Amino acid sequence: MFDIIIIGGGPAGLIMAENIDPKLSVLLIEKGKIGFKEKYWVNTLSKTHHHRLSEAIVNYENAMVFKTYLGTELVIPGEFVTLCEEKLLEILLKRIRGNGNVEIIEECEMYNFKIMNRKTRIQTSKGDFSSNLIVDSSGYKSRIVAHYDLFIPVGYYIVYGARLLNIKVNPSRIIGAEIVIQEKVPTFIEIIPISHSEAHVTVLQATRYYKDPFDLEELFKFHVSKTFYCNMFKNAVVVNKKFGIIPMGYLKNSAVNNVFFWGVTAGYAFPLFGTTLLPILDNASLAARFLKDNILNKSLSQFALSQFIVDKSQRKLFKLLCLCFEKVLESNDNIIDKLLKVACTLEKKYIYKMLDNSISEKELLEIVHSLILHSLKNIKVTPIELKSIYQNIYSTWQLLKLWLEFQI
Ligand SMILES: Cc1cc2nc3c(=O)[nH]c(=O)nc-3n(C[C@H](O)[C@H](O)[C@H](O)COP(=O)(O)OP(=O)(O)OC[C@H]3O[C@@H](n4cnc5c(N)ncnc54)[C@H](O)[C@@H]3O)c2cc1C
Repeated sequence: MFDIIIIGGGPAGLIMAENIDPKLSVLLIEKGKIGFKEKYWVNTLSKTHHHRLSEAIVNYENAMVFKTYLGTELVIPGEFVTLCEEKLLEILLKRIRGNGNVEIIEECEMYNFKIMNRKTRIQTSKGDFSSNLIVDSSGYKSRIVAHYDLFIPVGYYIVYGARLLNIKVNPSRIIGAEIVIQEKVPTFIEIIPISHSEAHVTVLQATRYYKDPFDLEELFKFHVSKTFYCNMFKNAVVVNKKFGIIPMGYLKNSAVNNVFFWGVTAGYAFPLFGTTLLPILDNASLAARFLKDNILNKSLSQFALSQFIVDKSQRKLFKLLCLCFEKVLESNDNIIDKLLKVACTLEKKYIYKMLDNSISEKELLEIVHSLILHSLKNIKVTPIELKSIYQNIYSTWQLLKLWLEFQI
């Protein structure tokens, strides 16, 4: 019998295991082998130091660039780094092993679970285990979420990418996103340099419907061979393909007692809910304290831990984000390009605050206001378009913000 069972040995599961009070007994199960992954994150240097992850840095960059095919360009100078997931997981594993209260079982898949009054029981490929609490950080295919039909989808990011060797890349610049509008669906291309001859290139498509990531394979090939960057990729050797789906949406409230959803499982790629790397790191100690309090108070059955909501205003903002995402997917091409031009006029200090996860709701509204003012000054629009801009500017900026958050 454990105090806590963590399902999933990805970044979220490991970060939670590291933060839980060493007095509590923890079992962490992972269906595969921990650390056999290849993903790269863009992070800010200051946050990387703050979370003692400097050893996972593989490259330093001094700018992030966003551009569209129509020529709009937004350059964000700053101290950025590329982090290697494999190294990051290695560091976390070392720290957890140092704590001594966490048992880790690899190649152990949870098949089934039972939630009783004050206890949980899981059935795995390596036997049954019980605990007071389950932390579900098993990613977007969580069996618990599926079982209770908890997920309310808003849309998806379909991802297809690979590491490219033998290329010519400016190692100090991340191409955050080259935005292409295809049949009204925004497509993003990210180029994360790992050195001057190596980068991780990914094509992402925001879509309302669940799609096969291999649909993007052709698009990936097209960008590698034909686009603006083709010179850069002329002699490219493609290795370690990576693909997947990142659902966008949220969990129903108060749905399951004794289960705490965490990481991608909890918020499905929404930044405020601890889904991508930086928010997971930033919120982990708070979440771990919350779990400990609940276990010690023995009041778990009265607490539905289905969502970790830091405060109410974030929740409001989150709902707004969901609405915005829907709107952006419906926008027409012209409006999006105009809005991107407007976004480029935004003060850099705001962008940096967003990257550092330290923007308040009030500041966000200030941004919207300033964007609207700029749109009046810089772009000639008809009254009807202007109305659309008012309706869409907030949502487009949010999409950009999501994109930035997705990177870190
Ligand atoms: C292709 C792709 C690219 C991405 N790129 C980025 C990026 O560049 N930056 C970024 O911030 N985010 C990115 N994301 C989002 C990414 O999912 C999160 O950043 C991060 O991986 C979330 O960590 P996690 O631990 O919550 O989930 P995961 O990394 O998905 O970890 C879940 C773990 O649970 C294990 N597991 C699942 N089911 C079970 C089970 N039944 N029993 C036991 N173990 C189980 C899995 O094997 C896995 O190791 C990307 C996602 C995808 C799909």
